[in-house]
Amino acid sequence: METAVNTVLGPISSGELGVTLIHEHLKVAWLGWAMDPFNTYDVKSALKSAIDNMKEVKALGVSTVVDPLPMGLGRDPDFHAEVAQASGVNIIISTGLDHEARAMPPYFRVRTTDEIAKVFIHDLQEGIGHTGIKAGIIKGATGEGLITKNEGRALRAAARASLATGVPIVTHTTRGTMGVEQAQIFLNEGVAPRKVMIGHCCFSTDTPYLVSIMDLGCSIGFDQIGLRHAQSDEFRLATLTGLLALGYADRILLSQDHTCCIVGAAYDRLTEQVELMKENRHSHIFRKFLPRLSQAGVDDVTIQTMMVDNPRRLFENSEKVEGRSHE
Ligand SMILES: [Zn+2]
Repeated sequence: METAVNTVLGPISSGELGVTLIHEHLKVAWLGWAMDPFNTYDVKSALKSAIDNMKEVKALGVSTVVDPLPMGLGRDPDFHAEVAQASGVNIIISTGLDHEARAMPPYFRVRTTDEIAKVFIHDLQEGIGHTGIKAGIIKGATGEGLITKNEGRALRAAARASLATGVPIVTHTTRGTMGVEQAQIFLNEGVAPRKVMIGHCCFSTDTPYLVSIMDLGCSIGFDQIGLRHAQSDEFRLATLTGLLALGYADRILLSQDHTCCIVGAAYDRLTEQVELMKENRHSHIFRKFLPRLSQAGVDDVTIQTMMVDNPRRLFENSEKVEGRSHE
């Protein structure tokens, strides 16, 4: 059923989401950047780049962009509000913690599950910090091949915040690993599988593994399209067309995990991401990937399912969840 969704400019109805990119970034700032007096961050050029990118994808038919940046990577609600205002794109930002090896702030490593959930719920219902700008999605993240104790606690807090608010969860998996384990943590907490999208699954070309996540009822993100440091688009295309042939179109969402501004030096494998940024790449999926998907025989209805219907369904609550919230 139609559900209210918080954008940075206020609530819209899920029916208004339209073509949605479920995992993109307008700006990423490595934790600690503000402590470096020599950092080269220039807010004006960052805003210009983000606004240009958003205007370009809007012209290509995109109505909504979700930026599920975890709170430790320079989340900046006012920046996003300004970009939304100037571009006319609905922008949704998140609450949630990064994985431990990257940007989970030490403060949250010593909080209990319920203390963390309380912060998430505040971000979703009252607004982030004192901005009054509400998060509209919950982010979870884990490292490679292992879910640490602190990451597990953050995922359970994400689940509790989702249960309390009806807001969906999207995740970061590192190199596509631990997707089933992430899903099981959310489902064990009682989250409906339709409210969960396990992210960065297109790192993997392991069809049975990807099917096992979707058979739990969760969605998966083919959400790093164009990021060559993770996987080639050729293998993504091959894996995706296989999954579509198996009948999983209604559980796959497409996006790019692209960012148009990274504050601070390149991080690890993201060196290439910084280089690719110069290509104005939030439009990559439309220029380079969808035409090839069509050539491979995937019809427009299927593409619409992945880019419009599936994101909408992720945000929408069933009658049962809606009924519960009136108790
Ligand atoms: Zn991301």
